[in-house]
Amino acid sequence: MALNPSMLRRDHPLASAPAQVDYLEKSEAGPLFEEKLLASGLIPYRPLSLEVLQLNVGRRCNQTCAHCHVDAGPDRKEEMSDRVLEACLTFLEQTDTTTLDITGGAPELHPRFRELVTRGRAMGRRVIHRCNLTAILLPAYAHIPELLAEHGVEVVASLPNYLPKQTDRQRGEGVFDSSLEGLHRLNELGYGREGTGLVLNLVTNPVGAFLPPPQASLNRDWKAQLQARYGIVFNEVFTITNMPISRFLEFLVDSGNFDGYLQKLQSAFNPAAAAATMCRSMISVDYDGNLYDCDFNQMLQLRAKIPVANIVDQNPEELATSLLERDIRVSRHCFGCTAGAGSSCGGAVADEG
Ligand code: SF4
Ligand code: SF4
Repeated sequence: MALNPSMLRRDHPLASAPAQVDYLEKSEAGPLFEEKLLASGLIPYRPLSLEVLQLNVGRRCNQTCAHCHVDAGPDRKEEMSDRVLEACLTFLEQTDTTTLDITGGAPELHPRFRELVTRGRAMGRRVIHRCNLTAILLPAYAHIPELLAEHGVEVVASLPNYLPKQTDRQRGEGVFDSSLEGLHRLNELGYGREGTGLVLNLVTNPVGAFLPPPQASLNRDWKAQLQARYGIVFNEVFTITNMPISRFLEFLVDSGNFDGYLQKLQSAFNPAAAAATMCRSMISVDYDGNLYDCDFNQMLQLRAKIPVANIVDQNPEELATSLLERDIRVSRHCFGCTAGAGSSCGGAVADEG
């Protein structure tokens, strides 16, 4: 597959997080996110629980998808250090956090991925692997599907479309065929099949500057199409709205779609989705141990509003208390989570507004 360099490697002006925040904040388009929260009675905007510990274990990936909010790729080398990884596992063990959500980059490229999965499961936590479906085909990572199945890890796999052209357009030439191979491997192990308990969810995001279709109708359509065309089964498909940051922001600016897309998100603001955003039940950790309200804030380097926003060398219980009392940091990109039925790592969060 043809791979493009990351924005960072290309020295793109919007590769820097502060430049992206500046671009979003200075936009003339519509209201600020805080104004919409205030009008919806959602200020102060705080967590309701701390169910999910989401680790972004590194920026390295074997793909360079056009919409990637991480600006990941083979030329990115950042990965979570041993010290941070241990601090995360201690936090998981000593708090009421129920779910370990592992993302990247391609998380399985991290040298301690196996250990992370097995230790998380040994603690009785639900473990989620965000899988791009092609890294597991690389010879060095071919054992990953068996590892996931053996430990009952939930797989959330990216597939923009069940048609090759749309998928390859977003993720790179040949990615669709490889993704099907990855899905067949997971199905062979029982993933997505009734009665196995092995959960395989798919995640799709629009291939362009528009909102995703309703998740319920998409589920019916995708189940029928993937089964009939390729004999593939899965549990659910989640719809995710593209966030106006990183490589998708680059696309919006280059194609002259930025203002129009932002206005689309703003006018579709749904208070019910704003009340149920994922930042209200999670915390996100970067490879240096820094803490954020979500993976998007992580990419924009908007740290969680607590006195020491790092997981290393902190008392887990005290940290959890302070995280639960924090105000969530919001900016204009947050409209991506609250448009229509909303969007999160688990798909839509509300009925259409
Ligand atoms: S597979 Fe995921 S992390 Fe990798 S480039 Fe694509 S969107 Fe980014
Ligand atoms: S971008 Fe992050 S902080 Fe903003 S609403 Fe979405 S989940 Fe919350």
